[in-house]
Amino acid sequence: MASSQSAPNLDLSVVIPIYNEVENVAELHARLHAVLDDLGHSFEIIAVDDGSTDGTFAVLKELAAEDPHLKVVRFRRNFGQTAGFAAGFDLARGKTVITIDADLQNDPADIPLLLDKMAEGYDVVSGWRLHRQDPLISRKVPSMIANRLISWVTGVYLHDYGCSLKAYDWYVVKNVHLYGELHRFIPALASWMGVRVAEVPVRHYPRQRGQSKYGISRTIRVILDLLTVRFLLSYSARPMQLFGSLGLAAFACGFAIAAYLTMVKLVLKQSIGARPLLLLAILLIMVGIQLLTMGLLGELVVRTYHETQNKPIYVVREIIQGGEQLRKEG
Ligand code: UDP
Ligand code: MG
Repeated sequence: MASSQSAPNLDLSVVIPIYNEVENVAELHARLHAVLDDLGHSFEIIAVDDGSTDGTFAVLKELAAEDPHLKVVRFRRNFGQTAGFAAGFDLARGKTVITIDADLQNDPADIPLLLDKMAEGYDVVSGWRLHRQDPLISRKVPSMIANRLISWVTGVYLHDYGCSLKAYDWYVVKNVHLYGELHRFIPALASWMGVRVAEVPVRHYPRQRGQSKYGISRTIRVILDLLTVRFLLSYSARPMQLFGSLGLAAFACGFAIAAYLTMVKLVLKQSIGARPLLLLAILLIMVGIQLLTMGLLGELVVRTYHETQNKPIYVVREIIQGGEQLRKEG
């Protein structure tokens, strides 16, 4: 996919969505520097203040006054963690983009592990919290089920979709479009582009300061998002095939039942007015026609979607001719 952005001009961007973490930001900033300063890479830290109301921005502003590496984006209100990632990705200039939580549950010292793995030629490297320090029933069990389900449904097998500590190639973050709460699905969404995905075990700590922003209700939203992602991955370029096949199946069943009832009426001369089957036949025929129409509408929507954004339906890695590389995308 041709990206409208120019090429990256730094080695590394660290993107951090931050919402009401006033007690954590200064330490996070110091610990990030302790790691990044020694790596010998050019880097930037993009802190996205997601509408904090606890003075987080004031602290970030003070830090930014002293640190040319730190860029602070301040949202007008709380837009959510996904929007925070999206804003960071839009601004990122690093060849590799690292995401991390602001609450120090992730360890900045694990960043080099991710970079080593990226150097092996991966496009996405996901942290895997082997010893996750969160409550068992409200967090770890739902998350284990969600990870299995997401892996199975999307075909991208990861142990820990929920871990924020991840590394992405610049190309991936510039071409993945995030909506709602889809940030945890980036590895799955990016699989559409044909990315190489790896996992590395990372450390995890209990939250020391501040409060978690999520509860158990997140699980249900994740399941609903999973349906969206599955649809986007498999049928977004051909909705008629999904809706059409369901519609045809419903229509065919309805038609068969109606034909049978017609025979009962005309040949056997029995009354069919009181038969529940008649209702079923009508229902299936109607539903079938509606699903087929929805498929057609879907096809129109898809065309608008791709053509207004100039979004191709394929992604090129490189083009060569006569042994020479004409174009390399990512
Ligand atoms: N966060 C955010 N906007 C929100 C909620 C959370 O930017 O609306 C940030 C939060 O500051 C933290 C990260 O997202 O850096 C993860 O949040 P949290 O630690 O509450 O999630 P948990 O680790 O409990 O899953
Ligand atoms: Mg946390």
